[in-house]
Amino acid sequence: MLATGYIPPFWIHLFDWYAHIPYTLFMGMFDTFIFDSPITCSECGEPIVSTQSKSFGSLLDTYRVGDAIRDCRIRIGVVEELCWCSVCADRPNRRETVAWLVVWHGIYAGAYASCETAETRLSTVDRMTLLEWHGRQQGEKEAWHRRFRSLYADLEGWHRYAIAEDKELFLKTPLGFLRSGLDKYLPEADPLGALLAAHEPPKDDGSGDLSG
Ligand SMILES: [Zn+2]
Repeated sequence: MLATGYIPPFWIHLFDWYAHIPYTLFMGMFDTFIFDSPITCSECGEPIVSTQSKSFGSLLDTYRVGDAIRDCRIRIGVVEELCWCSVCADRPNRRETVAWLVVWHGIYAGAYASCETAETRLSTVDRMTLLEWHGRQQGEKEAWHRRFRSLYADLEGWHRYAIAEDKELFLKTPLGFLRSGLDKYLPEADPLGALLAAHEPPKDDGSGDLSG
């Protein structure tokens, strides 16, 4: 028998809170797989460069060839996914475009327009393939390190300027702001926004996605 004034433990409150999160929040989740080579749209011929999949973790992750897939329950195989074409998506009765994703020991090993080509790829992953993936991963890691160091240096310089009580004096300091090159942002209406824009990763190399 519960005593009067009984207060449920915190985890009951937690469960109650989760139960009120709309299920639709989870329904729209997926992962994105970027193709090494575009797959041609069956309807309009437009090159398609990626597809979305709900066959894996659906955590809004973005994968390039050679990446290990999180929450991958498929060790080896090919997975069929429908592609979305921005050009003809609204056409009624359009022909569907299919991408076959290749999974090799939990690694995304490529995407192909036919199941046969995907299966051929699956059977030809070898030591040279692993070295190619390793080289790509290392290159991307180094590129991100360079981007981070450059962004950190600029933000650190901007912070020193922001907290300087006498900004005119700070700008004349020989080892200060001017040597960092940040003075070029000062004439901008939104200097910090311009600084961030200068460090925006390229969108066309597949590694500029900061969402996941
Ligand atoms: Zn199309």
